[in-house]
This record gives sequence, C-alpha cells and structure tokens, in this order.
Amino acid sequence: MNFAENLKKQCGKEISQCSNHELYEALLALVQKEAICRESREGKKKIYYISAEFLIGKLLSNNLINLGWYDEVRDVLAANGKNICEVEEAEPEPSLGNGGLGRLAACFLDSMAGLGLNGAGIGLNYHLGLFKQEFKDELQKEMPNPWIEEKSWLIRRDVSYPVQFGRLTVHSRLYDIAVTGYRNRTDWLHLFDVESVDEGIVGEGISFDKDDIAKNLTLFLYPDDSDEAGRKLRIYQQYFMVSNGAQMILDECVKKGCTLHDLPDYAVIQINDTHPSMIIPELIRLLTMRGIGFDEAVEIVKKTCAYTNHTILAEALEKWPIAYLKEVVPQLVPIIEILDDRIRRRHDKESVAIIDREDRVHMANMDIHYGFSVNGVAYLHTEILKNTELKDFYELYPEKFNNKTNGITFRRWLLHCNHPLADYITGKIGAGYKKDVKELEKIGKFDDEASLRQLLEIKHQNKRMLKRYLMETQGIEIDENSIFDIQIKRLHEYKRQQMNVLYVIHKYLEIKKGKLPTTPITVIFGAKAAPAYVIAKDIIHLILCLEKLVNGDPKVNPYLRVVMVENYNVTEAEKLIPACDISEQISLASKEASGTGNMKFMLNGAVTLGTMDGANVEIADLVGEENIYIFGESSETVIEHYEKADYVSKDYYEKNEDIKEAVDFIIGEELMKIGRKENLQRLYDELMNKDWFMTLLDYEDYARVREQAYADYEDRLGWAKKMLVNISKAGFFSSDRTIEEYNRDIWKLNGEDSRKEADEKIMK
Ligand SMILES: *Cc1c(COP(=O)(O)O)cnc(C)c1O
Repeated sequence: MNFAENLKKQCGKEISQCSNHELYEALLALVQKEAICRESREGKKKIYYISAEFLIGKLLSNNLINLGWYDEVRDVLAANGKNICEVEEAEPEPSLGNGGLGRLAACFLDSMAGLGLNGAGIGLNYHLGLFKQEFKDELQKEMPNPWIEEKSWLIRRDVSYPVQFGRLTVHSRLYDIAVTGYRNRTDWLHLFDVESVDEGIVGEGISFDKDDIAKNLTLFLYPDDSDEAGRKLRIYQQYFMVSNGAQMILDECVKKGCTLHDLPDYAVIQINDTHPSMIIPELIRLLTMRGIGFDEAVEIVKKTCAYTNHTILAEALEKWPIAYLKEVVPQLVPIIEILDDRIRRRHDKESVAIIDREDRVHMANMDIHYGFSVNGVAYLHTEILKNTELKDFYELYPEKFNNKTNGITFRRWLLHCNHPLADYITGKIGAGYKKDVKELEKIGKFDDEASLRQLLEIKHQNKRMLKRYLMETQGIEIDENSIFDIQIKRLHEYKRQQMNVLYVIHKYLEIKKGKLPTTPITVIFGAKAAPAYVIAKDIIHLILCLEKLVNGDPKVNPYLRVVMVENYNVTEAEKLIPACDISEQISLASKEASGTGNMKFMLNGAVTLGTMDGANVEIADLVGEENIYIFGESSETVIEHYEKADYVSKDYYEKNEDIKEAVDFIIGEELMKIGRKENLQRLYDELMNKDWFMTLLDYEDYARVREQAYADYEDRLGWAKKMLVNISKAGFFSSDRTIEEYNRDIWKLNGEDSRKEADEKIMK
C-alpha cells in the first residue's frame, strides 16, 4: 500500500476532507507505529541521559525527516490541497524544558539515536510545563501551559515504581516518547508521572498549593522557589525523577543478565547539571537493599555516574539544606552523611566538602567525588572550571576533568527549520552533509557573485516569512528590508539584554536628533524571565516600554523598530533564526558556559556579534576575525575584577556621555509615561549602584563594534561572504560530533552495544 492510501486509511476519510488537526493526529499515529518497528534489540551497555528538562520542540516534522518520509508526506498533502506547514502548526509544542540545558538534552537524544547508540533519556512529564509567557501592561504574566492533548506523542506504559517520601509513598506511571534516529534506530525518552496529579488545584496564573505533593508533583517545571515550600517541592520532583530512573536502570540491567556487581558494564548515567544528583545516594541505597555491601555499592556507583557542569554562576549551583532533605528524603540523609564523612577524613579543604558548615549539601561536590567524569560544555568553560571555579577538585582528580563542546542537531536546526538553505546546499554539494557534517565545509567554495546573491535571496525569503509569521501570530509589523538584529535566550543579567537595550535607546536618541541609519534596523528580543527574578522582569518591562515608544513614533519607526516576541520557545526559534542577520551573543566573558543559540544562528548564516565567552571563542577560531564581531573585556580581566572587587559602574557612567544619556533615559519622562516608576527606577538603581554583570564595562566597545557591523552590512556581497564562511564552518557544532566524543571518552559503548549492524538494515 502506498503512503497516500495508508494515510487515508488512518484518517478514515479522504485526505482533502480532513482538518489540519486530524491530519496531524493521523500522521502522529503512523510515525509512532513506524518508530516502534525501528526499536532495535538492546545492546549490553546503555547510556542513560538523566535531565530535569528536555526542550524537544514539536515532533512531527522532525520525525518525518528522521524517518525519511518528509518529502513524500509533503507531496501527498499538497496533492490533496493541504500544506504540511499548516499541519505542523496544529501540533502543540511540548513544554518540558526551559532553555539551553533542556534543548541540549533534546539535541543529544536525536544524535544518540541517529548514531545508533543504545541510549535513553530519563525525565519527568510536567503536565503544565514551564509557564506560558503573556505580556500585559508591558509586564510578563505567567500562565499554565497545558500541552498534553488526548492524542499525543506520549505512550502510556505498564511500568510503575513506588517512590517514598518519608511517610508518603507515591506510585509512578511511565510515559515514553519515541526518539527516531536520522535514518536509524529508535531510542526512548522515558518520562515519569503520577496519576494523582490534579490540574484543578491551579488558581490564578500559576499559583497552587505547594504542600499537596500527590496533586502537584508533576504539574510544573521549576516551580517558584522563592519560598520554602517551593524549594522543597523541587526536591520532591528531583527525588521522584532519580528514584524512578534508578529503579528502572537496575531492572533493565538485571533483565539483561547483570549481577549488579558488574553494573558499570551495563549502564552509564550522564547527570545533566545537578538536578539529578540524588541518583548517586539513591543508587547506593537501592544496591545495598539488593544485598550489596555499602563500600562496594559506592565503588559501583562511582564507575557508573558522570556529571556535566553547565554553569559557573555560584548562585546557580544547588545547595540543599540538610533539614529539607531530612523531611523529604530521610532515607538518603545517612548515606549523604557517610559520603561527606569519607571526604572530610581524606581532605581538609572546606571547599571540597559535601555538607558545608551551614548544613547544606553541595550537589555538584557530591557528583564530582562520586562520579568518574566531570565535563564542561565549551573549551573556555572547562578551562575556567579547572583553573578557577573547581580548581581544588581539579587538583584532586585531574583525570576526571574533560571538555565536551556543546552541539546542536542539524536535522532540526537546518534541515527542518530552513528548507530553502538546506535545498540550496544540497543543490551545490549533494546530500552527503546530512549524514556526515564534515562535508558541509565544501559549501565554502561557492563564493562567486551569483552564488552569494542566491544566499542573500534565501535570507531575504526567510525574513519575509518571519515578517508574515509575526504579523499573523502577534500582530507585529516589521520591515523585511531592515537589518534583523536578534537576541533570543532566557532573560538573565549575565546575558546582558540590558546592554542591548542601552544601545537601542542610544540609537533612538540619535534618530531623534536626525542621525539616521543607512539601512533601517529591527531589534528583536525573545526571553522568559524566571517568575521570581525581579530585575529580569524589570528588563522585560523596559524592553516592552521601549517597543511601544519606538514603534509608536512615526519619526523613528521607519528607521528603527523594537520587537519583543511573546513566549519564546523552540517553535519561535525555528522561525527567527533562519531570518537573522546579526546574532547577539553578548554575555559577560566567563559567564556563559557555552551557548547553543550562537551555533544555530551561525549554521543559518547569521554573523555573530559577541564577547569572547563560551563557544563564541571556538566560533571565532573557526571563522576568523573578519567573519565575526568580537568586543569586550576578556574572561581573565573580568575574573580579575571580581577577585579584586574593583568594578564601579558609576565611573563608566560618568566617563561616557552616551552611557549617561541612555541610562538616564530609563527614568526619563518618555518612558515613565508608558511604564511603571517602581520597575524602571529599580533597574536604573541596579545599573548605577551594582551592575554585577558589568554592563557598563563593555558598553562603549559594544556600541563601536555594533556600528561597524551595520556599516559592513552595506557591502552586501562582502556580508554574504561572511554568511557563507559561517555556514561552511558550522559542522564542528553538530551534536553528532559532541555525542561521538561523549561516547569515545566517557560512555564507551562499543559497536556491539550500539547495535550498529542491525541498524544498517533500516538505512536501506
Ligand atoms: C537554543 C535555545 C536556547 C539556548 O539559547 P542560548 O542563546 O544558548 O542561551 C534557549 N531556548 C530555546 C528555545 C532554544 O532553542
């Protein structure tokens, strides 16, 4: 039976008679059937990637591409008067992640399956996910984000484990999402849930009774932790995730013949940041309950667990009061105390203790002592870990430290999100790069004028598509002939959206004075702020006020527009990135561990304006200084400023007239008329008196280099050449390369484990 007939049968009626939503559900069912067929026999050793977040994005198109079905489905739909893009729109985006760390986990699963590795993801099935962002009165409002429909990618399994919290025991329920590998096997994302969860307890916005664990356990990702009940709820969630994960891992291994003494031959667990750290004491506990002696259990776990560090921001490294753990997970506390005691007997440096003098458990420290690998996520980040942040640990265990520069899956971030560019590349160099990204470099040869003009035309087409999307979804009008200058990422002071805003204010004031840009500029932001992060929400308020002011001024809006995209997520990213000219990656040097947005932009032909931070350093290295705009102080200088505590923002304010004018504008009468005094004044005070992430330190250089980028943009062919170099050098940032390195250095699954041979069949 051909595909059209199959689809028609699944729909139960003519394709042309179906709604887009019906077609989406029919395709979902067909994809799921095929995904299950591609499940391969389990190899001996398996990689379990455990993470609080999986920011997977919509799944239909990605699965169609990975199964090799996309073109046929598109054509069958078109032959019946349907448009595959409109069918895609019918799918709700799963809300299981927050930002880069969650997106990384999703890219990694795609690459693991695509490389035929025997792997699985383990996480939680949050019913209302991360909050949905709405703007009202120039403020962020948080709303629930229910994303699970009656028919969804979740497959309910007959798997349940008991999880004990003191006197309360809950029973889990497993749901699975298929991860289809590109022309390869299917792996699974295992998401644990509890059936007693009750969405009815949610009141106004995202408020709910934080104490009713049975009803709230898997409602939200990252519930507000500004109060004690919220912090405890996060511990409940984390333990629920790791206890289920550990029970499942042990069951699977035993089924394959593991005696538990040889667990490291069957399982390797990658701990994605510290949220899953409790899997270490939990595994020790479960192993001892199954008859293994304590000392041996510790040794087994040490050979099984590996930790990925994602941040050097001290405030983001989790430290749980032992009193909380005693209440939520009393069975783990004696184990953690023994683990700490053993470290304290051997090492006297307070910095490497697990339980500190204030009775708080440092989760990362536990991971480092009781795991066999510690990795950073970009070259610079790992160096800073070794030489500064985790120096005392590096001296103890130099052999554990390694770097794994992040990557992104090219299936989603090129083949799926940018069909015009992918088709162009395929036309020039063939389709080989889709399986082997090293071939992408060949596109660099096509730098004749005709080819460059084609590249510019593709960018223009993507800009027109973004314009239409923003008009249809948010009622925002932009000019496709302007420069699209984009900063989309979580809102955080270290990422310095506020520095970008100061420049926009400066530009606005210049235009008011009659100094007009040669080409109009559209500055686009997209960012959610954590609900309890006050200054981050003030920055959103400032952006929204500025948007209203700038876009509403007929003297200014032909030259400058400001757009804040609502509810930035993977779906929005897929529209914004292909249309971008300038990619803003302007974190304070040393603070952004890697970034992955920077890689997506580069791959899609945007030119980076950034600091020497995270993976920007590696991008700069690959493309060369004429194809990237670098500014700002180095990480060494910044780290020195922190050590000496000698940065004074007011000095920079007083020295530079542009800075003074822009900062004063925040509390000037134009914005005050639109915005709220409380928020704007607080932000102003923060910049003047604290500015912890040194916005004003880099502002002058930032403005200078940004002007240079705009000037260079005028030479369209010169600019296209920069785009081309960026695209052609992006191959290094494929998550396939990253995953191959994880496997080579950490996981060590061999060919037999990963069942490559069996998968060859599928490829044919
Ligand atoms: C890639 C991605 C991120 C990470 O962006 P950074 O710029 O690296 O912080 C965050 N959110 C979404 C939706 C993404 O796709």
